[in-house]
Amino acid sequence: MSLTLSSAHVHTTWCDGKSPAADMARAALENGFVSLGFSSHAPQTFDPPCCVAPEKEEAYRAEILSLRREYADKFPVYLGTERDLYSCAAPGAYDYFIASVHYFMTPDGRWTAIDGAPEPLKSYVDAECGGDGLEMARRYFALLRDYVLDARPPVIGHFDLVRKNNFRLRLYDEDGDAYRRMALDALRPLAETGALLEVNTGAMARGYLTTPYPAPFLLREWRAWGGKVTVASDCHNARFLDAYYDDAEALLRAAGYRSAVRLGRRSLWEEYSL
Ligand SMILES: [Zn+2]
Ligand SMILES: [Zn+2]
Repeated sequence: MSLTLSSAHVHTTWCDGKSPAADMARAALENGFVSLGFSSHAPQTFDPPCCVAPEKEEAYRAEILSLRREYADKFPVYLGTERDLYSCAAPGAYDYFIASVHYFMTPDGRWTAIDGAPEPLKSYVDAECGGDGLEMARRYFALLRDYVLDARPPVIGHFDLVRKNNFRLRLYDEDGDAYRRMALDALRPLAETGALLEVNTGAMARGYLTTPYPAPFLLREWRAWGGKVTVASDCHNARFLDAYYDDAEALLRAAGYRSAVRLGRRSLWEEYSL
């Protein structure tokens, strides 16, 4: 059994998840979790299948708060949201939020999903970045860095999400100096915000990657800068609520981490040993 026993990054049928919230809570109980946080994609004015519909935000909140009451004698249930840079939602009254960048947006409102189907991203690279995949990655990291510095979130979501489609499209050399320097330069200023860097196993569970976000070289430097991490599954299906946690924890230990942070039993966040 893995040590984390929690996830702050969980999607349900309120957004693009496959499992209802009640099934996720039941899976958390069956897995011996000490806490669980729901993080539906915050409302957006575009790409509606992926997020909570603005008119359903209150109902989403009500269901999670009802699960919180139902599970009160078992573990705390937290009401969170994954808030994209281009979400139209006010931060609102959530226990916490995960700051993520999922899209490129042109000034006239045309969007391209960074972690969606590979073809539209390839078209974006060709049309907007002169065919230069590294330029696409540079734009992504600049958006995420500026968003985190501005919004000061408790959690930074899937820091190097560009790896997902690069795995298939080979848009740039992930092991090359130029990419690594770019990713490190974007990450470094975020360490002093105090945000937790999410170690996200979602792309492993869905068969896209063989290691979590972020890549090991980023995790090593984050620790050297005094940064803390939270292991999360970015779960869309209750069967995978703690998928690949053992791998993520082993990777963290190899990167020198002795502890990580999870949603707490008595306080919002708590540290535990790895
Ligand atoms: Zn996300
Ligand atoms: Zn997510």
